[in-house]
Amino acid sequence: MNMAVCKFGGTSLADGNNIKRAAEILLSDPARKYVVVSAPGKRFSEDVKVTDLLYACYQESAQTGSCGEAFAKIRKRFQSIVDELGLHFDIQPILDKTEAEIVARKSADFAASRGEYLNARIMAALLGWEFVDAKDIIFFDAKGAFDEKKSYPLIEERLKRAGHAVVPGFYGTDADGNIKTFSRGGSDISGSIVARAVNADVYENWTDVSGFLACDPRIVKNPEKIEVISFKELRELSYMGANVLHAEAIFPVRKGDIPIKIKNTFRPEDAGTLILPSKKYTPHGNIVTGIAGKKDFTVIFIEKSLMNSEIGFARRALSVLEKERINFEHMPSGIDTLSLVIESRYLEGGMLDRLIEEMKEALSPDYIRVSENIALVATVGHGMAQNIGTSARLFTALSDAGINVRMIDQGSSELNIIVGIDNADYERCVRAIYHEFFEK
Ligand code: ADP
Ligand code: ASP
Ligand code: MG
Repeated sequence: MNMAVCKFGGTSLADGNNIKRAAEILLSDPARKYVVVSAPGKRFSEDVKVTDLLYACYQESAQTGSCGEAFAKIRKRFQSIVDELGLHFDIQPILDKTEAEIVARKSADFAASRGEYLNARIMAALLGWEFVDAKDIIFFDAKGAFDEKKSYPLIEERLKRAGHAVVPGFYGTDADGNIKTFSRGGSDISGSIVARAVNADVYENWTDVSGFLACDPRIVKNPEKIEVISFKELRELSYMGANVLHAEAIFPVRKGDIPIKIKNTFRPEDAGTLILPSKKYTPHGNIVTGIAGKKDFTVIFIEKSLMNSEIGFARRALSVLEKERINFEHMPSGIDTLSLVIESRYLEGGMLDRLIEEMKEALSPDYIRVSENIALVATVGHGMAQNIGTSARLFTALSDAGINVRMIDQGSSELNIIVGIDNADYERCVRAIYHEFFEK
């Protein structure tokens, strides 16, 4: 029989009614044996996510030695969930203990993890499934990376023994035995890890949209839904800011060749988006699969005649970044030119000037120019390489829209063309590309 690991996101579990809906989905298909849950998210647009309330508990406790005021909101949220569900589950003693532990442990990660912990306890009581704490099965190594060698066998053994289980997302245990969280949105990663550990046939990621859309719905109204997408395309799109799934969530399932299905908790009958390993994926008719982007980059443009014949030039440029511990996103290069694209937030507080000085010294360039307030927009699709003239269409669409392209980077994968434009042109750029490839 097929077996599915499901993950439900914050909006899908924001209140009692939604949690009931999620439980019905889980019980409607016997293949759904294990579920990973997020903390309750927003119930309405001005609402505050439980995870953010918990960070506030940590702050209050660090400043005053207690967190009664902020924790009162947590109590109210969880008690009302239990009441809405009509559950005979006494959550107050668990909440008392949680509040005391947040104060005693003095750890932001511990505090933040409690939203998932409490929601999983409730979900387990509702379903009558076993609660398996992520702290006992998901481990990080001394460098803070997920420790797959230690975790996978433990997850598999523990979950198979449980038969059915609810696992809190977002956290695990670090090398010193303390609770550590993934980055925000990390329950997607926990779900992927669990799916891989038990070798699921599918990882179902239940959220509040009916799948991955061809671009951000806040920029283009009702964009087309993507029916099937490859892991590679998804990686490019989520890295560039299409945040339906955490950008790191694909790695565990990808190694196990396990497909992901994005499904809508509020419209379970909708087909959703199927994300497939590249070898199981056959390109569909579309040239472009999706468009995504991010604002606020800085481009350092370096020019030097005969750069290409100067051995070690790129390495010296990059070692300046390494010395200052700065990541770069892209490095498009020409015969005599090299550009470094860096997130602007790394360059605040005089860092940009320092880098330029160090580059001048290390590289003796003919010319260095800096462009700030640059947005990157990625146009992604396996079909692009096969269709001659795709880049011509893309650049004609941008020039027709009066958008000045400041930088171009066509990844070596031929899967992705990235353009750098002014921040101010970002939304127009996404719309122009969408119009060209989806509305003509
Ligand atoms: P969850 O709480 O279930 O983890 P998220 O809020 O993390 O859900 O992700 C789903 C949201 O991602 C959607 O509500 C939507 O606003 C946003 N989003 C951004 N880009 C896209 C896209 N290309 N397709 C679909 N949704 C997108
Ligand atoms: N609750 C966490 C967050 O808000 C993790 C998650 O929902 O995936 O980031
Ligand atoms: Mg999410």
